[in-house]
Amino acid sequence: MTLEEDALGVIRDHKEGVFQNELWKLLEIDSRKCSRIVSKILDDDLITRESAVSNGARTYRLSIKVEKEPTFELLMAGDIFSPCAGCRDACQPEICDKLTFWVMNIGNEAENTEETA
Ligand code: SF4
Repeated sequence: MTLEEDALGVIRDHKEGVFQNELWKLLEIDSRKCSRIVSKILDDDLITRESAVSNGARTYRLSIKVEKEPTFELLMAGDIFSPCAGCRDACQPEICDKLTFWVMNIGNEAENTEETA
């Protein structure tokens, strides 16, 4: 297991996040090495980092990035799912009635949203 994986494991185990000035102690490495590891996993977009104070010292709180639930919002026009998803027709989008109907519903939905705002 790499140090990055170890660090991720420690951060994941702390539901409220872990202070960076505690992380290097938990990993039994020096603070400079810890900073490099944190930079690497930040670059990999696996954690978040926010300024914090721990025992009077400025540090960072590191937390596992919460994965978003998959959303199909962009495939929906109102209650109508995109006709292209799973479509096996010979595709000619320029003249496709199903696509035209669906796109028209996007327009209607946008108008309804503006009217209620
Ligand atoms: S544009 Fe029409 S034919 Fe092409 S994939 Fe979409 S629904 Fe199917």
